[in-house]
Amino acid sequence: MKDCIFCRIAQGEVPAKILKADEHVVVFEDIAPRAPTHLLVIPTRHLDSLAACRDVDRELLGHMLATAAEAAREVGLEEKGYRIVLNTGAGAGQTVFHIHLHILGGRPLAWPPG
Ligand code: 5GP
Ligand code: ZN
Repeated sequence: MKDCIFCRIAQGEVPAKILKADEHVVVFEDIAPRAPTHLLVIPTRHLDSLAACRDVDRELLGHMLATAAEAAREVGLEEKGYRIVLNTGAGAGQTVFHIHLHILGGRPLAWPPG
């Protein structure tokens, strides 16, 4: 998608601090971290949101989640715990309409979120 910032990051057109990537997903640091560790997991293929996903996207969604767990392990978040967030829709705080998982950790995380 031409004007999508995360498509542009996935294509290497916009710089990002990339932690890991494969054919299907990219993991990079959030530009405005809300926790000491704040990573984003995006698919390389554009999808607006979780609400836009269909049956065909099941495997990709699983891969995103499994990659988030790997990334969290690699940056040492496993011991103290971390949170995966998937804001879906503007009313839930989604501001970039290319689906992404947030990985947040490195500080105590309150529940429920605001
Ligand atoms: P949302 O609010 O849609 O759930 O999350 C979007 C996230 O993307 C925000 O945490 C925001 O800081 C991050 N973000 C927005 N633009 C960029 C960018 O150009 N580069 C990076 N690395 N993160 C971005
Ligand atoms: Zn996109």
